[in-house]
Amino acid sequence: MRVAKETVVAIEYTLKDDQGNIIDASGDRGPMEYLHGAQNIIPGLEQGVDGLVAGDTKSVLVPPQLGYGEYSEKLLQLVPLNAFGANTPQIGMRFHAETNLGMRVLTIKKIEGEEVTLDGNHELAGKTLHFDIKVVSVRAAELTELSHGHPHQSGGCCGGGGCGSGEASSEGGCCSTGEASEGGCCSSEEGATAGGCCSTEQPVAQKQGGCGSGGCGCSA
Ligand SMILES: [Zn+2]
Repeated sequence: MRVAKETVVAIEYTLKDDQGNIIDASGDRGPMEYLHGAQNIIPGLEQGVDGLVAGDTKSVLVPPQLGYGEYSEKLLQLVPLNAFGANTPQIGMRFHAETNLGMRVLTIKKIEGEEVTLDGNHELAGKTLHFDIKVVSVRAAELTELSHGHPHQSGGCCGGGGCGSGEASSEGGCCSTGEASEGGCCSSEEGATAGGCCSTEQPVAQKQGGCGSGGCGCSA
């Protein structure tokens, strides 16, 4: 079976930057599974996988506009240090917040005196992505997967591979409907610290909701 719309595809991949540094790899996490044609992954990678069959390997070059977009200075904003209340901001800390562009993942880029610079760009914005992929499997999606817009593992939504325990029940947690923001998994709470459920473990190739390959917005 060829990779096409309405197939569930599992790929192994290594992602490198222009300098050849490895940014991410499926590695020990195992293959990344996604529903093809449902915008589960970045467009450039999805296009690269289209038409392949299990066992195929390929190098896929993804320009910023088909990846995480160009880097935009407009997504930088200054906030006063005291906006963080009791939380101590640290450079590199990430959290979700409502902005004039909707819910975004913001990264603390700079702290200077009483001013904190927040960066709403994705960490891979402006970067050309070099993927080496291998198609592990291709199968027809099930009806429930098509209606949910993502693959199911272990026979259910959010089965297996979910986020860490205890996170899923809170509003904005792993299995909530989430926002369409990149990396929009887990914890919409402001001040959620780096190292949270999805901040470091989410496959970067996954566009949204990347808990395991579930990323669910459903209760089935
Ligand atoms: Zn589901």
